[in-house]
Amino acid sequence: MHRSRVGRNEERDGGMEGWEGRDNIISDEYVTICMSEMLGDGSALIIVDMQNDFMPGGSLPVPDADKIIPVINKYIEIFMAKGLPIIASRDWHPPNHISFRQRGGIWPVHCVRDTLGAKFHPDLKLPRSAIVISKATDPNREAYSAFDRTELADRLREKSIKRVFIAGVATDYCVKNTALDALEHGFEVILLEDAIKGLTNDTSPIEEMKAKGVKVIRLEHLIAVKNR
Ligand SMILES: [Zn+2]
Repeated sequence: MHRSRVGRNEERDGGMEGWEGRDNIISDEYVTICMSEMLGDGSALIIVDMQNDFMPGGSLPVPDADKIIPVINKYIEIFMAKGLPIIASRDWHPPNHISFRQRGGIWPVHCVRDTLGAKFHPDLKLPRSAIVISKATDPNREAYSAFDRTELADRLREKSIKRVFIAGVATDYCVKNTALDALEHGFEVILLEDAIKGLTNDTSPIEEMKAKGVKVIRLEHLIAVKNR
């Protein structure tokens, strides 16, 4: 399958030289190279809470959250090309969730299950094969982490996943808690720094994750592998 895709790209793009400098297409050669260095069996992509309510215009907007969608889509393309699992978590609150201000919580009503605000952003190119993890579904319990009383750890273990790459929002809440829980569960954790956004620009959540053992990379770190 992979070989035939390379063939098609060579036809369409006139060879492998064509990939450099292109912003929105990742060639199969690029995918092959980055896989050999950094990704392999045992890796999975976790995309945290890329839902309408967390986007600009939503009820709990994370500034510029929509700007990372094209980057996340590139990571999705890479993981799909390798046949690696892609997980998408979502806040999936009941209408009377404890985190909402009406119940004394700190957040406006957001991501109420089965509403438009809870849907993934329409530009996010989630494959049909993506595993969707719903969290914070109990009216009386808050849950920032995608591992918090969900089946995520079991789903990863049954696929023999050892390393998770994490993207999404918000860096200071659900991304951070998901990353730290992944460490607790014994996974190697790689934060995709160009594919996350926080409620603030404070970098201390990233520093905290790094101090605890989370590795941080950007898309160009994968691209740079080509020139080694
Ligand atoms: Zn929430």
